[in-house]
Amino acid sequence: MRPTATLPGMILFVVALLASLATFAYLIEARFALLRAAKPSARFDRWGERFAGVLTQFLGQRRILSPGYLGAGIMHALIFWGFLAVGLNSIHFIGGGFVAGFHLPFFGPASWAGRAYVVVRDLFEVAVVVMVAVAAYRRIVVRPARLTPSWDAALILSLIATLMVTDLAMAGAETARDGSANGYPSPAGHALAPLFASMGVPASEAVHGACFWLHLAALLGFLCYLPVSKHFHVVTSLPSVLFRRLDTGSLPMIDLEKAETFGITGFSDLRWKDVLDVYSCTECGRCQAACPAYATGKPLSPKKINEDMREAMMPALPLLLGRKPLPEGQSLPVLPSLTIADDVLWSCTTCRACEQACPLFIEFVDRIVGMRRKLVLEDGAFPEELTAAYKNLEKAGNPWGQPADQRGDWAEGLDIPLMAKLEGEVEYLLWVGCAGAYDDRGKKVARATARILKEAGVTFAILGTEETCTGDPARRSGNEYLYQMLASQNVETLNRYGVKKIVAQCPHCLNSLLNEYPQLGGHYEVIHHSQVIARLLADGRIGMNAAPAGQTVTFHDSCYLGRHNGIYDAPREALSSAGLTILEMPRSRENGFCCGAGGGRMWMEESLGTKVNVNRVDEAAGTGAGLVASACPFCMTMLADGVNETGRAGTLEVQDVAQIVESRMTRKDA
Ligand code: SF4
Ligand code: SF4
Repeated sequence: MRPTATLPGMILFVVALLASLATFAYLIEARFALLRAAKPSARFDRWGERFAGVLTQFLGQRRILSPGYLGAGIMHALIFWGFLAVGLNSIHFIGGGFVAGFHLPFFGPASWAGRAYVVVRDLFEVAVVVMVAVAAYRRIVVRPARLTPSWDAALILSLIATLMVTDLAMAGAETARDGSANGYPSPAGHALAPLFASMGVPASEAVHGACFWLHLAALLGFLCYLPVSKHFHVVTSLPSVLFRRLDTGSLPMIDLEKAETFGITGFSDLRWKDVLDVYSCTECGRCQAACPAYATGKPLSPKKINEDMREAMMPALPLLLGRKPLPEGQSLPVLPSLTIADDVLWSCTTCRACEQACPLFIEFVDRIVGMRRKLVLEDGAFPEELTAAYKNLEKAGNPWGQPADQRGDWAEGLDIPLMAKLEGEVEYLLWVGCAGAYDDRGKKVARATARILKEAGVTFAILGTEETCTGDPARRSGNEYLYQMLASQNVETLNRYGVKKIVAQCPHCLNSLLNEYPQLGGHYEVIHHSQVIARLLADGRIGMNAAPAGQTVTFHDSCYLGRHNGIYDAPREALSSAGLTILEMPRSRENGFCCGAGGGRMWMEESLGTKVNVNRVDEAAGTGAGLVASACPFCMTMLADGVNETGRAGTLEVQDVAQIVESRMTRKDA
């Protein structure tokens, strides 16, 4: 008999249903109210790309199934797909509580869709039970370092298993009694029917009834528990993927004249996507496993930032929404920069490895820089070493404080025209950057790049002393005021000369010029020198001397060239065209490991943990190549320092792609 066929059964069913729906609505309303109250985030564009991502990443689970996580990925994907498959079943289950044999149109027992669906449902229910057992084994026995043991996970796994097992058992009991599971030919029901038949009718009916109530309790309990647990991602993961960031290169702009607060001073400064991200984190730890700061013993774990923010945010919801008055004389006790320690924020290299690894596209860099902005602009609390860098940027336009009037000295003897003295037109402006202008290694790269362009007959000019730092180190370390000062000056200069196309040898400069200067009215076509070099080689505009056979190189991906701007192939193509065989490091391309210099860390001491650059140099040396190619002046400095610090000078050389190509280039004037 249907457990809700009696009046008490029906009353219990209706009361449980209404109570849980009301609880769910109450809990979720507060969470959505905070989303509505949060600051805006421009994510309502490029719908084609957004929906394509939902198909591949949400439904297709592409990132979940990434090669480094295939085992755990298959486990999660099967549970997820099983959940989707069982969703329809839950509608039938609840509807069946009111009306015997309830089913959605086209999914009745007589329709092919309904019969096929039950086969799929059974397969997934069995798969989910197996995967829940695997998940429990991993958490209890294997204990991967990236997962934090929690009762929350244990409870959720138990609820999922209960849902599946009780549904399978009900199908078995019904098949034993009626020859079908509620009219459907359920394979699992047929497999389990002999077991129930052997119990006898009363016992089988009792088990069926118990499974019905247990299934209902698990389903409704799950619904109520979702909003208060990390499994809220069951609700928020689809919007997280839909509204994911489609461009990764720019930070949000502050209107310095109108802003009342600078940076993220509290939860009320978060954008709705930041809040959604905090809600959505599954605590899978992939971001943490990819983080160079975490890997080298710094106090930063991106996963922990989400956990800490969620822990502070949830109890404060009524205060944040103004539904509960703040105790007299108290401000909100939940400011993220109070819950997230300063050391954590300063450890970030802004490499975005965490964001690349996250299956839900959760973002960290904007939030971390937002909290740094608060420290720098509101509190004046930043690492001492940055004081000198900020002063140098302000006074000399470069972080080392080198004389501004010597910015063009690197080009001496190369006969490169200055924009100020240019007669006629050139194809490109060569943006040299501070390292190219002042750093000894950087100057060699600038000269190599210039020689290659000249050899190929590419016309270009430089700004010379009119160029100043793009402001990247200031912006990423939180000094938005200084960044806007430097950037506005550059935009004014570039626009005055009507510059359209820029070649940059520094990925940080490229990123600012291309992705951030549009916020200040500077719109340019910017390409990296490795892209120009690769194209010139492919077009045969520069020739190469035959390379000695068997020369190998390993290429270090700069985060700001790769993850921030998607340029992975050009430097490799240039190296291959120069006759070198590339030996890839285990962490390369999208999964490349930072050198440790980004996010302004180039100008900060690395006193905690081990060194990021040493970690990377060890990996580079492990390839067996005697040469490490870089395409970023900061990376080159960090790698070269790492080579010296690990005693590898003389056995491992570091060069920029331009230097490698230029040293092998045939010369028309030779
Ligand atoms: S951006 Fe890089 S350093 Fe910062 S939290 Fe993410 S992975 Fe770690
Ligand atoms: S941020 Fe993403 S990768 Fe990191 S723990 Fe949360 S869901 Fe996993």
